[in-house]
Amino acid sequence: MITSPLFSGRNYAVLGLARTGQACVAALAASGASVTAWDSSPEARDTVAQLATIADPMDIDLSDFDGLVVSPGVPLNRHPVVDRARAAGCPIIGDIELFALARETLPPHRVVGITGTNGKSTTTALIHHIIRNAGLPTRMGGNIGLPILGQEPLAPGGIYVLELSSYQIDLTHNLDCDVAVLLNVTPDHLDRYEGFEAYAASKARLFTMQSGDHIAVIATEDPQTRAIADLVNSKLITVQADNIDPDDQANWPALQGPHNAQNTAVAIAVARALGLQDKAIGHALESFGGLAHRMERVTERDGVLYVNDSKATNPASTAPALAAYPPAPGPVAIPRIHWIVGGLPKSDNLDECAPWFGHVAQAYTIGEAGPMFTDLLKDKMPVEHCELMVTAVERAAAAAKPGDVVLLSPACASFDQFKDFEARGDAFKAAVGALA
Ligand code: ADP
Repeated sequence: MITSPLFSGRNYAVLGLARTGQACVAALAASGASVTAWDSSPEARDTVAQLATIADPMDIDLSDFDGLVVSPGVPLNRHPVVDRARAAGCPIIGDIELFALARETLPPHRVVGITGTNGKSTTTALIHHIIRNAGLPTRMGGNIGLPILGQEPLAPGGIYVLELSSYQIDLTHNLDCDVAVLLNVTPDHLDRYEGFEAYAASKARLFTMQSGDHIAVIATEDPQTRAIADLVNSKLITVQADNIDPDDQANWPALQGPHNAQNTAVAIAVARALGLQDKAIGHALESFGGLAHRMERVTERDGVLYVNDSKATNPASTAPALAAYPPAPGPVAIPRIHWIVGGLPKSDNLDECAPWFGHVAQAYTIGEAGPMFTDLLKDKMPVEHCELMVTAVERAAAAAKPGDVVLLSPACASFDQFKDFEARGDAFKAAVGALA
């Protein structure tokens, strides 16, 4: 675990005790801080009862605390604890800020921080894979589901690779990344921000925290990333998906599609900025295995490919999945995607997916967005309202012909029917496994 003598004797409150909150409590307690912790779930509170005083930050005087560490899941724009902490002069921070503060007591190291609306996890895992293959000590953490404070500190010369959501950046004030990365900015999470501008501004803060001699790598393929690139004070490197030669990309099995060309262009620029050699980078791109739930090839059955892209939680991330499977070549273009779509909607349209509707043989809608998407798609393609994942998989499997693809790429959040996108992807895989 990552600890720091800087926290010794200090007083922190931790709100939200899922994986990240638990790691914060453990790291602070092991550093000699006194910790008060809270979660609305009694089971979550029990997990830290040995290490922390249990009390709700809504009921205690926060002016005695050096920081209120909140989970990225707490909506800062709505939760009443924000006003209470501000009134008490207590900084509102997250686990990444604790890591940033601990850095000065860690062995010499570098930090790569990656943000963007889509592609963060893939790019984070890819950069980590390239660095590890080059033989340098490295750890991956942050939004990718691995709390960084729960990991062992690196030996001197190591590189921490952090995936950072905009919520985590909002809770971070002192992270000076040696290399800061921005992939893309498209509308998402608008329930948590005043508007799109505010969401984009949150991403921009990763760069305003950087010092001038550090490096910014930005994929300048949308208006927001271009605007942010104009503002950076660090050394700017811009990249684009078309920097990638399609003949090279053909050798990287887990990095197919235009979106992965963007992710790879970024990862190569970061690796070069870290001083790695092109030969080592090339080998690592070939051996990268990809991540579960992102365009994951589940199985091929009776000539039909089943692909789990449950992590596509907004229309912009579903678009490249639809783009990846064009109609089979031939005198008549016959679309081959059986598209399972729906969940908790993020918007009232699928406009970003529209250029690829011609790739879809039939859509199968699920979840809360099902009726709306059925209505929206019915004039564009055959569509069946299925409600449940298992029904959608059964109907898609029954309709698909050899050469077709059954694709779960929901363009929605999962929380209407599932705990998270992993549970949704697992439900898809289970339904595929259960096909007669
Ligand atoms: P994140 O961690 O930002 O959510 P992931 O790497 O987990 O990103 O990918 C999430 C989804 O977004 C996947 O479904 C994938 O197909 C799609 N995607 C990945 N990279 C990009 C990109 N650069 N642009 C648009 N969509 C992408």
